[in-house]
Amino acid sequence: MLAFIQRFLGKAPSQEASEKHKEPDQYLLREVEKSNLIRKDQMDVVIQHLNNKINLNKTGNKLSADEKKELGINPRLQLTHELLAVLNENGRAQADPKTVLSSIAMKASFARSHDENIQNYRSMGLKQYEILGCKDDRECAWCKSMDGKKLSVNQSIKGLIEENCTCDSHCRLATVAVLN
Ligand SMILES: [Zn+2]
Repeated sequence: MLAFIQRFLGKAPSQEASEKHKEPDQYLLREVEKSNLIRKDQMDVVIQHLNNKINLNKTGNKLSADEKKELGINPRLQLTHELLAVLNENGRAQADPKTVLSSIAMKASFARSHDENIQNYRSMGLKQYEILGCKDDRECAWCKSMDGKKLSVNQSIKGLIEENCTCDSHCRLATVAVLN
């Protein structure tokens, strides 16, 4: 009942405190640590941004046309100094540096849902799950090759993705239960 009431009240303090210690942060942390596009000494700032505590894209401190020209950044992009400050040279060299952080968020979100889904398949007593690709041009060759494959519920798809997927931004493979 309390949880029910809290849902209506929005973010109750106790709820917010427990969220901080729940798994989502671990997934974000892992992706932030893995990224080779952000500055290691700025990881805390990146985590705050990804947890919506701050917004590096909305600081109002945008790069001027001259600054973008000097840095070789697409003049049509709207970028803030604060966003650039968390990226290393490779991160700044991305076609749109904003995608560095959104891609980390998407990777963390997919990793979390893969774990949750496989956990569910296991608790349902299932033995296998099937991989579903997106079947579009954005998908990498490995992802395409995985479409329709079946894996044991004891095998995590996450590790395979980390080792093999070369999709831009993030892997979009999904899984479904195999009911037999
Ligand atoms: Zn891929």
